[in-house]
Amino acid sequence: MQPNALPASRSRTGRHLRSLRQWFDAGEDRAIGGQAGSERIDLVRAVPFALLHLACLGALWTGVSPVALAVAAALYALRMFALTGFYHRYFSHRTFRTSRAVQFVFACIGAACVQRGPLWWAAHHRNHHRHADTEADPHSPSRRGFLWSHMGWFLTPQAFRTELERVPDLARYPELRWLDRYDIAIPVLLAISLYGLGALLAQVAPQLRTSGGQMLVWGFFISTMVLFHATVSINSLAHRFGSRRFDTRDDSRNNAWLALLTFGEGWHNNHHFFPGSARQGFRWWEIDLTWYGLKFMAMLGLVRDLKPVPAWVLHKAEC
Ligand SMILES: [Zn+2]
Ligand SMILES: [Zn+2]
Repeated sequence: MQPNALPASRSRTGRHLRSLRQWFDAGEDRAIGGQAGSERIDLVRAVPFALLHLACLGALWTGVSPVALAVAAALYALRMFALTGFYHRYFSHRTFRTSRAVQFVFACIGAACVQRGPLWWAAHHRNHHRHADTEADPHSPSRRGFLWSHMGWFLTPQAFRTELERVPDLARYPELRWLDRYDIAIPVLLAISLYGLGALLAQVAPQLRTSGGQMLVWGFFISTMVLFHATVSINSLAHRFGSRRFDTRDDSRNNAWLALLTFGEGWHNNHHFFPGSARQGFRWWEIDLTWYGLKFMAMLGLVRDLKPVPAWVLHKAEC
């Protein structure tokens, strides 16, 4: 045996054990940027991500029903709105104001998307805007390729850490720090609730032909994975395919299909040109469902001070 073999295997085991603990407690993520391997995919950490995809195949056993499809679609819509309206336009860009209670409720709905906590999401997104399509961009398709920008970058030890120094305005709320640390809590709660709902409906309304397993597979796994791929298509596809209205320093594009799928986020070239607005569709025909949703919430008094697109930007958009 080589003298160094035992310590090396021990340290590897230790690393794997730490990765396992980090499935449940993101607070263990440390500043390891620059260390050897910190930019390589952590295979142990990637297991739950792979399992989320595999679990969708459960539909082959559970079958489907109209009620399961409706719940999956409703959860897609609600969670997409929480991601785009709150994780992105509120937590990352501060384009409107709201109460601490509404902030927490939508942080929880956002956390149910299994895209980690609001601080983690906002910190990485702020980095994306600072360094868009340069070497320091965490997910640039022109620098690192489609697959990496779509679903490789966030599985590395370096990317698992939340850079709190990027989000001091959010880190002062203990409830948001808790959500960020135990980012698995809300998704587990949602999955259990969906199973319970399906089991209950099977008892009290058998004519709906659903079950706990079916509701779990469609309402949680399939809805979450479609939501995930739609979201990250903004990182990968919206920096590659579409038109460029503004000559920004990055490769961002406007893409109507992606805008429909992601409730307005596909107007990504607009957004990179002027990220300070709560609205991303700059022309009347640029459908931006999140903007309409935020306007509605403002009418109800739940959010306020929605930052508009400035006149000079609108004028430039019309040229
Ligand atoms: Zn971008
Ligand atoms: Zn942004």
